[in-house]
Amino acid sequence: MTMIARIALWWVPLFFLLGLPCYGGGLVTISWSPTELRQGEVLSVVVKSETKIASVRGDLDGTPIFFHEREGGSLGGIAGVDLGVSPGPHPLRVSGEDPGGRPFKSVFQVKVRKGEFRVQRLTLPREMVELKEEVLRRVQEENRKVKKILLGIRREKFWHNYFVKPVDGSITGAFGLRRIINDQPRSPHSGVDISASLGSPVRSCNGGIVVLAQELYFGGKTIIIDHGLALYSIYMHLAEMRVRKGEEVKGGDVIGLVGATGRATGPHLHWGIRLMGARIDPLSLLRLFSSGE
Ligand SMILES: [Zn+2]
Repeated sequence: MTMIARIALWWVPLFFLLGLPCYGGGLVTISWSPTELRQGEVLSVVVKSETKIASVRGDLDGTPIFFHEREGGSLGGIAGVDLGVSPGPHPLRVSGEDPGGRPFKSVFQVKVRKGEFRVQRLTLPREMVELKEEVLRRVQEENRKVKKILLGIRREKFWHNYFVKPVDGSITGAFGLRRIINDQPRSPHSGVDISASLGSPVRSCNGGIVVLAQELYFGGKTIIIDHGLALYSIYMHLAEMRVRKGEEVKGGDVIGLVGATGRATGPHLHWGIRLMGARIDPLSLLRLFSSGE
């Protein structure tokens, strides 16, 4: 990166975070957090105006951000930076109409830093790693089904700006961990593993609709909750599922019990988050929204 680009990167966010007028002449302020964003994290964007904003649209790198009304009349949206996104500046575009009906349009460069993902090398017997033909077919079918669910966009918003950790316990499997099994790189760990004793209650991290409650080959008893606006949470290896597909849940509701079903070495909860298909560190959502607003 050149020196000029670096100055521009700092100058543009500071200019708008200081609450100076935006393009179009209306008093519209655009801010985002965290300012230090890493791969696999969530970006929260807030658009404020002295009076009601007519409309706001936005995208991060071309992926739409859905804005919703927040308390106090401002508009907020979240964007996910997939753990595999290349580090460097990524354009955040925000446009709309200001209170006077005049259009505003801004492009910022959000700097994405490299995530700190560890590499774990494992050597396992071949029969544990290689899947039989019929198992492979089952896994592929399950993967297709889950992928399709996670790419769906429900326009209704069920989540609130307060996320809860689904189970008490320490993180034993970090997000983004790169496993290399018998010299073959596997897909990075797309959630966090929380250690907890068998049968501990697992709670929904926020409000939503259960869109999957099924036993999967790798994930074991798995629940997926659609929180609306392309945000999903995933809970795996459950001993018991306490909700059914189609059921509506609130944040904090018990949805199942910690177990070791599927491919698991001991009781723990695998908790994953997807936002517009991006694999997000659930802990980054907790950091951003754990105290309400
Ligand atoms: Zn896991």
